[in-house]
Amino acid sequence: MARVVVLTAVLAAAGLVQAAEPDFSKVEIVTTPLADGLAMLVGQGGNIVVSTGADGPVIVDDQFAPLVPKIEAAVRKLQDAPVRFVINTHHHADHTGGNEPLGKAGALIVAQENVRKRLSTDQFSKLLNRTTPASPPEALPVVTFDDGVTLHWNGETIRVEHVAPAHTDGDSHVWFERANAVHMGDTFVNGFYPLVDVESGGELAGLIASAEQVLAHSNDNTKIVPGHGPLAKRADLQRFHDMLVDVRGRIQAGIASGASMEAFIATRPLEDLDETWGGGFLTADQVVTLMWMSLTDNPKAQ
Ligand SMILES: [Zn+2]
Repeated sequence: MARVVVLTAVLAAAGLVQAAEPDFSKVEIVTTPLADGLAMLVGQGGNIVVSTGADGPVIVDDQFAPLVPKIEAAVRKLQDAPVRFVINTHHHADHTGGNEPLGKAGALIVAQENVRKRLSTDQFSKLLNRTTPASPPEALPVVTFDDGVTLHWNGETIRVEHVAPAHTDGDSHVWFERANAVHMGDTFVNGFYPLVDVESGGELAGLIASAEQVLAHSNDNTKIVPGHGPLAKRADLQRFHDMLVDVRGRIQAGIASGASMEAFIATRPLEDLDETWGGGFLTADQVVTLMWMSLTDNPKAQ
């Protein structure tokens, strides 16, 4: 019971549950240049990357439908042309909410196969006893892939790479090779505890592997865009990775001790990390709950 209550709060905070509609009228889209023809947009919801150039705008993730006019205005300041492609890093509503209006306006939506599966069918959550209805056809990816796909566009090589089940089972990293930049979706949140969406096939081990993959293919000049939080450098991702490994070790020790999850949480096992990592949308208790489930009773494995 306690577990369900905690999870409801977790998932609501992450935008997975329809909470009270936020006031989008107050949201401002802030543009940060990353490289020639590449920028990051921050508004409400997941961070966006925009590529502009000879072939037209491509964006990675699109926040929420009511923000699309503001997102389009920010894109038009970079290049006065309609969005040609939208790449989704995963299916969550705070990253794909703009798909429907952008799809209707003619953008082609690209995502890993599991993103289309989850968006095109009702998603029932056992933990929440709640159904998220399927998205309308215009919101669905029209180009899907299993392991990856590459766009040769705007003089850039845009490499979209599916990673092992991490935040969900449909995560991709989107690399911009010329610009030496990557959008990691919610496999990386900069400066706070991540969400392992165990009901959407997320796994802690995959989250750690995803960070290791980017660490192995980046350098100190790589611009790393997290799903949420400020633009990062490799050192920020390294800190996030090391924290995850540390947290996994503590939880594994708790599981091995034979304690119940509730008893383990009562020992405040992440207390010393909280000041650094606890400022995001998840509390330490929520982090431990989801990671404990990922390491024990992941619903996907049942
Ligand atoms: Zn997400």
